[in-house]
Amino acid sequence: MPELPEVQTIVDELNEKIKGRVIEDVWVGKKKLIKNFSVLELKGKRIVQVTRRAKYIIIELSDDLILLVHLKMTGHFLLGKWKTEKDESFPAIEGPIKDDPYNSYVHIIFYLDSGEELGFSDLRQFGKMELYTKKEFSNLKEIKELGPEPFSKEFTLDYFKSIAKKKKTNIKKLLLDQEKIAGIGNIYSSEILFLSKINPERKTESLTEEEMESIYEAIKIILKKALELKGTSMSDYRRLKGNKGNYQSSVLVYGRKGMKCLDCNGIIRYVKIGSRGTFYCPHCQK
Ligand SMILES: [Zn+2]
Repeated sequence: MPELPEVQTIVDELNEKIKGRVIEDVWVGKKKLIKNFSVLELKGKRIVQVTRRAKYIIIELSDDLILLVHLKMTGHFLLGKWKTEKDESFPAIEGPIKDDPYNSYVHIIFYLDSGEELGFSDLRQFGKMELYTKKEFSNLKEIKELGPEPFSKEFTLDYFKSIAKKKKTNIKKLLLDQEKIAGIGNIYSSEILFLSKINPERKTESLTEEEMESIYEAIKIILKKALELKGTSMSDYRRLKGNKGNYQSSVLVYGRKGMKCLDCNGIIRYVKIGSRGTFYCPHCQK
């Protein structure tokens, strides 16, 4: 599932490539991805800018409209060309959009005034798009309840310590709690806890001041590195041109079950914490 680094990469690339473009038409192969509006409402609207909040993509359109995109498990945008036949799409140009099977589930296509086409690929079809006025959007509960962004000035060490002390849970669950910290998911929570040498099942109230500082620092280090490497493409996530991010070749622990720990040569263990797969080194992470 795309997390902060993946979503931010997509947002940056969308701004670079399609900001200012007008949506001339929209093709929809899977109607269930469009939630509370008719795509006719998007015709003639200009893409003013694209931003991110937590794991959401916020596309600001002309006439004070907001297209809110949830990528969920496997959703991603692609800039390419397709032929469509009934509810199916077929890539029409050579390259990773055609060659990489993860890109072959394009269920929505936006036709832009530049002649470009913006596709939305979603294998599992849990993704969704919703349309709001700016006013409606500013009152949206699921957005209002999100915690601070890890790179915002609100996300201070004191804030992190206060949520760790207040919430009776384990540290893995706290890192995933979007109402406490926005944008971290399964991949980077494993990476953060490996770097800070904390066992993911540790109760937050048992963490020392030093350990909390170490996790706080690791959040910033790991997310910054993943942003620089344009995200992790171990599974479905792809960049706008269908190419992969690069963090998967730098993973510390995620996806390395049964492999040797990079620090101690011990064996990386895989456990489920609150139904979420978690990788850690039982020797290094206490
Ligand atoms: Zn180790």
